[in-house]
Parts: sequence; structure tokens; C-alpha cells
Amino acid sequence: MSETPPDVGELSPPQRTLMGPGPSPVHPRVLKAMSTPLVGHLDPSFVEIMDETQELLRYTFQTDNQWTIPVSGTGSAAMEAAIGNLTEPGDTFLAPTNGYFGDRMAEMARRAGADVVRVGAPWGEPLDPDDVADACAEFDPDVFGFVHAETSTGAKQTNVPAITEAAHDHGALVIADTVTSIGGVELRVDDWNIDAAYAGPQKCLSCPPGASPLTLNDRAMDKVLDRDEPARSWYLDLSLLEGYWGDERAYHHTAPISNVYALREALRLVAEEGIEERWARHERVAGALKAGVEAMGLGLNPEDDYWLPSLNAVHVPDGVEDSDVIEYVLEHYDLEIASGLGDLEGDIFRIGCMGHGARPENVTLVLAALADAFDALGADVDAAAGMAAAREQLR
Ligand SMILES: *Cc1c(COP(=O)(O)O)cnc(C)c1O
Repeated sequence: MSETPPDVGELSPPQRTLMGPGPSPVHPRVLKAMSTPLVGHLDPSFVEIMDETQELLRYTFQTDNQWTIPVSGTGSAAMEAAIGNLTEPGDTFLAPTNGYFGDRMAEMARRAGADVVRVGAPWGEPLDPDDVADACAEFDPDVFGFVHAETSTGAKQTNVPAITEAAHDHGALVIADTVTSIGGVELRVDDWNIDAAYAGPQKCLSCPPGASPLTLNDRAMDKVLDRDEPARSWYLDLSLLEGYWGDERAYHHTAPISNVYALREALRLVAEEGIEERWARHERVAGALKAGVEAMGLGLNPEDDYWLPSLNAVHVPDGVEDSDVIEYVLEHYDLEIASGLGDLEGDIFRIGCMGHGARPENVTLVLAALADAFDALGADVDAAAGMAAAREQLR
């Protein structure tokens, strides 16, 4: 070990415009909330903040579920809390094959002791309700999980009420991954009969990662409280967390105070804007981005029927490598976009249009930066047509 202390300078990260798959740009009010003084996690004032955060979360999920909380950790923590608590060893868990996060669901269910079975659709397409019904008839699952907004493919699951009905007809509980839809794309937990939904704060809620939304209805919570053996994770055990987030307010672990402040402020912004207005804004602004890249001659990967405004999967044009373009726009424009994953690696750019990032000036920046990168790197696209089409949509 060195005797001299490390000479590390003051923190000064670059000012990026975050238009990838998350995190998204954080609203200044949320950053300010994060820097306010801490209170104890059992302080009466914090109990009030918890209640308000839960109330705001219910609005954002469009649910009356009592059991609606922020889970300490990133979206994957809320995901593991949902899957790990609702899956008992020996359960059959039906998971989708149509994207990277469906695979993650399957892996978490396997680790929770489930027999995992799959219902398929190609990457970039939603599940067909008939296929879900067939899979439920064949496997008789205890739990069915699906991804509402597949961040790896830019495809939205349509017909959600039909797939939840198919699962319920066979007595399965339904878990929805709503990480990239919450606060950005129409999501109605109660109307669509979703039993449990988890989400993340750093996508369309534009909040730093750290406290992640989760909601369970009574049917789901009854299963959690009625388990034969406790969930395998102590930290994410919802029957223990009930002691903290429920009426008792007893210590389980220290809540990430600053992250709860941030989430509360991010959710206040949702409430001020109005949830439906917010969904409409994402569609309008991302629609301009979509029109722009299409006019440039680049298609989107999913069909229009399942286009996901919060995550646009744009084809990489001939003549360039995706990684060169991504590097170019980061270096020259401080702009972050991302490459494809899994089956779509090398074929698409993933361009987010999320929360505070879903603004017209960001669409203009993305289109200008891409046009410059394609020109510099040797792809033939019609940049002027792209700009004109986007402008037309934003008017
Ligand atoms: C980002 C994401 C997750 C995981 O969230 P983390 O915050 O990265 O842990 C899960 N599902 C989907 C669909 C996502 O986009």
C-alpha cells in the first residue's frame, strides 16, 4: 500500500445528453431534491415522505394497490423482488423469449427454484395472446412474466389485457416488467389486471437509479405472505419489507433516503404534467425522431404497431459500423446513444426518448449528430429530409 494519499481531482463528469436506453437526463428539480439534507429513515417527517411517494407511485402505475413501494436498488432489484417473492421452489414460471430482459426474467425465476418454460416470439415482436393461451394450456404455469417495453428491441407488448386474461384463465399470476414504460408509455396496472409490476426510476421517470418502483395486488401479496418457505433473498423479502413500508414502520434496512427524495420529486413532475399528457408527449417527441430517421432512409426495427416511443431501435445504415457512429456522436456532440444487444447486436442503434430527455431540442440534436456522423464515416443518408420531417411533426 502506498504511503501517499491518492491525488484524485474534484469530480467533473462531462455534460452528456443521455439518449440511450437509460439512464435518461435528470430534471434539475430532481437533482436539487437529492442534495437536500438527510433525515433518519424512521423520522416522522420521512414517514410522511414515504406515504407521499407511495401515493405518487400508485398514480404513476395507475393502480390502487396498497402494496406499492420503491425497492432499494436498481430496476433489477425490483425485478428480483417481484420474481423471487412470487416464485416458490417447484413452481412453473412462463417467461418470454422475445428479448434480453425476458431472458433475465427466466434466469431469475430459475434461481428462485422454478421450472422455467417459455413462450416465444421473435426479437422485435410482442407475444401473441393466442400463443400465451396455448403455452398456459400446455404448461399450466403458476407465474407468467412478460416485458411491457423491451428495451433490447424497441418493441412494445400490445394486447396486454388479452395476455393477462389468458394467464388468469389458467390460474397464473402475472408479473409485468414495466421498467421502460412507466411514466412514458400507456400503462394501466389495474385496468389491465396485472398482478405485480416492477419498474426503474432512470428511464422515463428521469431519476437517478437507486430506488425502484414495485406494485403488487392483494392476490399477489397473499401468495407472498402464504409461502411455505421464505424467499431466498433476505434483503428483498417482501414479507419483511412489509414491516417497514406497511403500518408498522419497523427497521428492516436503511432506506436510500436521497434516492427516495429524488423519486418523490420525479413523480411530482409526472403528477404536475398529468400521466396521459406525459404519455402523449413521449409519443409526439419520439414520433418526430422516428419520422426524422425514416426520412433519412433508416427504418425502425419493430413494425409501427408495436413501436415503443421510449426506445427507438433504428437500423444501422450500410457503410458504417454502429460502434464508430456511437463513438463519433459521443466525442463530437457529448451525445449518448447505444448499440443493439443479443440477436440485434450490430443491426440497430438504441435511441431513448425518455422523460426529461423527450424534448424537441434533443430530437434535433440526435438527427444533426447522426447526419454528421454518417457523412463523416461514409454512409449515404438524406440528412436534410430527416430534419424537415422531424420539424414537420414537432410543429
Ligand atoms: C433497464 C431495464 C431493466 C433493469 O434495470 P436496471 O436498473 O438496469 O437494473 C430491466 N428491464 C428492462 C426492460 C430494462 O430496460
